[in-house]
Amino acid sequence: MSDPQFVFLNDAFVPLDEARVPVLDRGFIFGDGIYEVVPVYGGRPFRIAEHLARLERSLAKVRIANPRDAAGWTHLIEQLVQRHPWPDQVVYLQVTRGVARRDHAFPEGVAPTVFAMSNPFVHVPPAVRARGIAVVTLPDERWLHCDIKSTSLLGNVLARQAAVDAGAAECVMFRNGFMTEGSASNIWVVRDGRVLGAPRDHLVLEGIRVGLMEALCAACGLPLEFRNITREEVFAADELLSTSATKEVLPITSIDGRPVDTGVPGPIYARLYAAYQEAKSA
Ligand code: PMP
Repeated sequence: MSDPQFVFLNDAFVPLDEARVPVLDRGFIFGDGIYEVVPVYGGRPFRIAEHLARLERSLAKVRIANPRDAAGWTHLIEQLVQRHPWPDQVVYLQVTRGVARRDHAFPEGVAPTVFAMSNPFVHVPPAVRARGIAVVTLPDERWLHCDIKSTSLLGNVLARQAAVDAGAAECVMFRNGFMTEGSASNIWVVRDGRVLGAPRDHLVLEGIRVGLMEALCAACGLPLEFRNITREEVFAADELLSTSATKEVLPITSIDGRPVDTGVPGPIYARLYAAYQEAKSA
């Protein structure tokens, strides 16, 4: 890239190579921080109000004062996006509890660290969309506050690596016999023309695409239900889907080495993907 990539750190835009955080930042020491990932299409952030509301909720849950209001974050995101030539971008925001001598308890009078960067949106290759992705099932060994979009992602990192080690792109996790989510995506079961998602509770991160799926299912006339989903229901699915900011909605066509139904992306995926593309350009 000819132009340097600029990132925002605390109060200024700096070249990525020059951005430095002190080693005592609690994000580095404890993973004591919150993040967001906002997709940008044609220079316009998608579902920004929902992303900023989730950032606010996550910060409140870990008692970090939100350093900016929604207008302030929106302005920052716009500035960051304008600095880069890519029409479609992925904006990453992170707020940590700040820099302090190492002690588990919250420091007093410390300002949060604010970091923001943007990268080109790397779209899922058409060939991958056409064949769908493979997943493996795993026990969900993460903590009990998965609703918080925390930078403490070791459980998710280990789960994703277990999937990669098994030759899969993502995992589907189960806790107490019920499906939770993937390492970095929400998972959906399609059966008999109905779409099922896991309960929207503390055991999953409520993706911004969860609210969007409600809207897309409504637009497509598809019934959608959030409830406990068993392993048997996942394996008996007509279709399995994964959603996230960067993958939008993806078909899962293999699970633990077995085909999902006939092993090709299904008609409900096709309808929801088309509806997603329409929502982006609305
Ligand atoms: N669950 C987890 C654990 C995730 O990391 C993500 C991606 N951020 C999601 C679900 C999907 O969330 P979103 O639709 O906001 O990308």
